[in-house]
Amino acid sequence: MKQEKVREDKAVCIHLTFNQKKIELNCGRRTYRWLCRSVMVLFLILGIVFFNMQQTKGLTALAMQKQDVQQTKQLVAQYESQMALLEKQNQLLTEFKEKQVQQLEAKLKTVVDTAANTLKKPSLKNLVATTSVAAVYRGTDDIDKQIQSLQSQMDKVKNTITKYADALNAFPDKWPVYGDITSTFGWRHWSSGWSDFHTGLDIANSCGTPVYAAAKGVVVFAGREGDYGLNIIISHGNGYTTRYAHLSYIDVKEGQTVLKGDYIGNVGETGFATGCHLHFEVRLNGTLIDPYKVLD
Ligand SMILES: [Zn+2]
Repeated sequence: MKQEKVREDKAVCIHLTFNQKKIELNCGRRTYRWLCRSVMVLFLILGIVFFNMQQTKGLTALAMQKQDVQQTKQLVAQYESQMALLEKQNQLLTEFKEKQVQQLEAKLKTVVDTAANTLKKPSLKNLVATTSVAAVYRGTDDIDKQIQSLQSQMDKVKNTITKYADALNAFPDKWPVYGDITSTFGWRHWSSGWSDFHTGLDIANSCGTPVYAAAKGVVVFAGREGDYGLNIIISHGNGYTTRYAHLSYIDVKEGQTVLKGDYIGNVGETGFATGCHLHFEVRLNGTLIDPYKVLD
């Protein structure tokens, strides 16, 4: 089949030659106009359909964003109420701690006073001079009893002190590193309009600065993990865990016990970090809490 196009009287004509026979199609100005209009109408319809589709798509996205905003607001409200609860808990704990310290101080004073009174008692020499031997034995017996009682009191106080010292050592309130706070815990709103929830406290210091354990505990993770880069997680008991991220070096191993203030690694910028800093996180029973409120 052969096809040829010729322009005739400003209209397009298509001549087809098929098996030696000539067929003429779409000739004439009217046919051409009709064809042009049909194509224009078709494009117009397609344009309207496309525009409507885009509109629907945009409205759906907007509705979804609105839903996100609503959910985010609810989340913020939840975090705020949780924060208020934690603050209350923190206040109660502080009050309880102060009360216990006062009680311990009072107990210690009693122990010290008792010891001082015991030493002030008449010496054995004076006892011999003023009383009978039997009385001296009775006196020493009495002193022995007092010493025993004193010893038992001291043991009790010692145990209580150890118990509270352990609890204080396991509370992650020691600053792991000092430096400028470049980002606090909570929602961050960027100038670009983007918002995100910052899960910890960013403390900037030069790469290589030593990082210390915020409390006594057991290293439950030490290695590389996504945006956190090289990081360490320490479990302190009583539901508390702390994370030290973007490190340049890790000096502890999983399963290792560390004491409050022990050197565990160095500040770095591994993972998703824009400069040398420590990203420090605190969790209580798995829930992220503001490290600034926990640190001393
Ligand atoms: Zn951070």
